[in-house]
Amino acid sequence: MSQYWSSLVHTLTPYVPGEQPKLQQLIKLNTNENPYPPSPQVLAAITGAASADLRLYPDPGSDRLRETIAAYYSRESDSSITPQQVFVGNSSDEVLAHTFQALLKHALPLLFPDITYSFYPVYCGLYGITYRSVALDADFRIQTADYAQPNGGIIFPNPNAPTGCLLGLEQIAALLESNRDSVVVIDEAYIDFGGASAIRLVNRYPNLLVVQTLSKSRSLAGLRVGLAVGHPDLIEALNRIKNSFNSYPLDRVAVAGAMAAFEDQAYFEQICRAVIATRDRLTQGLQQLGFFVLPSAANFVFARHPQHDAATLAQRLREQHIIVRHFRLPRIEQFLRISVGTDAECDALLTTLAQLAGQ
Ligand SMILES: *Cc1c(COP(=O)(O)O)cnc(C)c1O
Repeated sequence: MSQYWSSLVHTLTPYVPGEQPKLQQLIKLNTNENPYPPSPQVLAAITGAASADLRLYPDPGSDRLRETIAAYYSRESDSSITPQQVFVGNSSDEVLAHTFQALLKHALPLLFPDITYSFYPVYCGLYGITYRSVALDADFRIQTADYAQPNGGIIFPNPNAPTGCLLGLEQIAALLESNRDSVVVIDEAYIDFGGASAIRLVNRYPNLLVVQTLSKSRSLAGLRVGLAVGHPDLIEALNRIKNSFNSYPLDRVAVAGAMAAFEDQAYFEQICRAVIATRDRLTQGLQQLGFFVLPSAANFVFARHPQHDAATLAQRLREQHIIVRHFRLPRIEQFLRISVGTDAECDALLTTLAQLAGQ
């Protein structure tokens, strides 16, 4: 605490990211990073961008990247997505931050699930947004009907984090049908691991904004690139915030790497398939050890053991150099969130858990 702080800083409770340990030789299954490297084409593009041109500012609008993304999602979602419907930022956390300030701050409360991405209440604190949390049902699922109440906006990840549970597009369309007067944001950080993107709904619902990241399915957490797709009026609101904050959020290296990531579809599909296959093996292995595992459509699983305390298990795993995520929060304090690693990493985890918790 300091007398020099603004009154806002005194009120903040910042987000606590998963640990990035400095130790080598760890099995790191705590922050949902992709276990596979980025596409070789991405690395070549990044190397190529490390040139004398770095003395020049990048394109403030990242136009070529937005064109690449618009063409990509036009193909993938069977719709016509224009570059004016695409916003890019320095990570999806930044895109989300601008979204909260630009589109989700209203007199009525913002709605999001009681168990969800823990950055949402942090942005509400930063921007002075009132919110109400809506309880997941007894199976830890989002019931869209529960959001039929006066609101200044709705946001949730799909699949949700940290549960991994997926909503189908019919349920999202039903929510949009009954909620026309405020913005609905779907945070699709994990959608490529088994879900259908709501981008195919943006031309039908002018109040839908879909946010994605290159950090998880495209193995680029270290590059910091996120994006949003929606009606041009929603994108214009994000641009007004962006251009009042940082005109050049994406550097030349990030733009080159991100464009290459959308151009190497074969590699992307190959690593997504590998993660999904390992997730299914990991789920079965955990179940054989007596764990209850929520059905996951993400690159992590959320599991609890009926006889073993989650915090103790996390601590014992750490002693064996395996790191998973444990949240000391109501309803989920007996769960562990385990990122899907390589097959070898997941086998090592299962072997250690068999010693700690096996029958
Ligand atoms: C990982 C994650 C993000 C943030 O992704 P970055 O682009 O790396 O900032 C956003 N939302 C959810 C739900 C996430 O899990």
